[in-house]
Amino acid sequence: MMRFDVITLFPDMFCAIKDEGVIARGIKKSLLEIHTWQLRDFSDNKYRNVDDKSYGGGAGMVMQVKPIRSCIEQIKQKNLNSQVIYLSPQGQKLTHQLAIEISKLESVTLLCGRYEGVDERVIEHDVDLEVSIGDYVISGGELAAMVLIDSVSRHVPGVLGNAESLNDSFFNGLLDYPHYTRPEIIDGQKVPDVLLSGHQANIDAWREDQSLKSTKEKRQDLIKK
Ligand code: SAM
Repeated sequence: MMRFDVITLFPDMFCAIKDEGVIARGIKKSLLEIHTWQLRDFSDNKYRNVDDKSYGGGAGMVMQVKPIRSCIEQIKQKNLNSQVIYLSPQGQKLTHQLAIEISKLESVTLLCGRYEGVDERVIEHDVDLEVSIGDYVISGGELAAMVLIDSVSRHVPGVLGNAESLNDSFFNGLLDYPHYTRPEIIDGQKVPDVLLSGHQANIDAWREDQSLKSTKEKRQDLIKK
């Protein structure tokens, strides 16, 4: 079982993965737990503020240390070993390999930034790892956290069916082969004959070939690796 605690200003966004699809099924099977924490509940003022102006000036607000630290402390009271990951464009790039490594942890706490991000002292003192979903900036850590939860959960044993992920892109270092479904012909486009042949060895060989071809065409960097 893997547990995710998510610190966020927008807990409702996580319904997108908690209520539908593979992650929802993993939760139903008690293989995954996702707990959201409203950061404003840890504010120490009546306006429930958790951000303030940036020292040194400039546009944009910064998320304060105290509410974040109090929230992490509360999460760790139950899950002492929870690893704290801050979603950040400055972090280590999320890859297939990093998703596998994170999936081996029992419990992770995901800190979602907003505004200009969090006070640097949180990163220095409270965060174990910064993770980025790519070299671009989005408006908040929530979408990034959901991408992380989904990609990591797929590696938690039992979340996917036995063979469901084995041919997915990156699993064997290559991209997936092409897939087709009914009808056999549509608008003159035909399913490759080999897939209709019933000859499994030929089908496997064709798929391997296609997988390699696709990787060469689309991702030369993977071939070099
Ligand atoms: N000022 C920050 C910077 O340039 O590094 C960006 C702040 S961004 C507007 C607000 C929040 O969105 C960040 O604190 C982070 O949690 C999240 N975020 C933005 N881009 C991200 C990315 N590529 N990967 C993961 N999280 C991201």
